[in-house]
Amino acid sequence: MHTKQGVDLRLGVGVKRLVGDGFKVSGVELTDGIHIPADMVIVGIGIIPSVEPVKRTGATGENGIDVDKQCRTSVAGIFSIGDCACYANAWAGGRHFRVESVQNASDMANTVAKVLCGQDVTYDALPWFWSNQYDCRLQTAGLSVEYDQAVVRGSVAEAKFSLVYCKDGRVVAIDCVNNTKDYVQARKLIESRTKIDPVRLADASIPLKESVSQ
Ligand SMILES: Cc1cc2nc3c(=O)[nH]c(=O)nc-3n(C[C@H](O)[C@H](O)[C@H](O)COP(=O)(O)OP(=O)(O)OC[C@H]3O[C@@H](n4cnc5c(N)ncnc54)[C@H](O)[C@@H]3O)c2cc1C
Repeated sequence: MHTKQGVDLRLGVGVKRLVGDGFKVSGVELTDGIHIPADMVIVGIGIIPSVEPVKRTGATGENGIDVDKQCRTSVAGIFSIGDCACYANAWAGGRHFRVESVQNASDMANTVAKVLCGQDVTYDALPWFWSNQYDCRLQTAGLSVEYDQAVVRGSVAEAKFSLVYCKDGRVVAIDCVNNTKDYVQARKLIESRTKIDPVRLADASIPLKESVSQ
């Protein structure tokens, strides 16, 4: 999709250095010796969460800051939310990891606000994510970290399809490409942990919500 839009993807090669006059970049030198002229360089290299100020309080964590179901760190009175918070995710079999999405950051913030106001709530929102790339709408719900079956629904060639991830006969996650209907229905199936019929699931002419196991 990106290549069709004119993006030049170079794989298996690194950036050796940025070339410029010390003030403005004029190009990029690759590890294979090729020089690519550039007016502007945008660096997308992932993130490392900035956790040092929180760590200095004594809060623990190997990958970010460890928090419990109410976003509490190991230090009384200090909470951690968003990209840097590492917790046992109920939507991934209790595995501990950080989730990097706007949904996660704002839902954790809501949880902490309620906890500070004395409400007995826990953070267990279903993770979801979206991105628009050109005319392509990407939406995901759930976490596809643990599954025993992945089913494609729809047409990959026409860029309108879903990849449904199941575990023990239940939908645990979905990736949708231009398929909002599947996304909306799958969220409900994931949240209700409903048993589904894998044969009906694979038939894109049958709405997802009608794939429930009889
Ligand atoms: C390029 C890119 C694209 C993305 N696209 C999407 C998307 O399409 N959809 C989506 O859901 N998510 C997307 N994300 C992820 C999303 O932006 C993050 O998950 C979200 O912003 C996390 O919120 P946060 O509040 O935890 O952290 P941040 O938004 O990173 O906020 C942390 C803030 O703390 C500040 N800070 C750090 N250290 C200190 C310090 N010592 N003292 C004071 N301030 C400090 C930082 O400057 C920053 O402002 C994207 C991220 C990137 C980088």
